[in-house]
Amino acid sequence: MTHDDVIRFPVSCPICRKEVITEYRRPDVVGALLNDRPIRLYAPCCDKTWTAAYIEMQQIRAYFDATRRDDPSRTVSTDPRETRDD
Ligand SMILES: [Zn+2]
Repeated sequence: MTHDDVIRFPVSCPICRKEVITEYRRPDVVGALLNDRPIRLYAPCCDKTWTAAYIEMQQIRAYFDATRRDDPSRTVSTDPRETRDD
């Protein structure tokens, strides 16, 4: 996994409300956003995992759009081979 394949965004821990930066593989985020699949979030402060709510999905989409603007050469691919786990 290279640095370019990771996207980071802040989420609020549902337990302590602390803002934590989460890190996801870009293909996983792309696949979730394109297919309206839920994203599992994780807060290390409380070792808590939860499914992103609609508003959180919107925030994630906004962060993702921002990173794409930073890197216009990168295109979104819907190729399922990019979402494989390895
Ligand atoms: Zn917490």
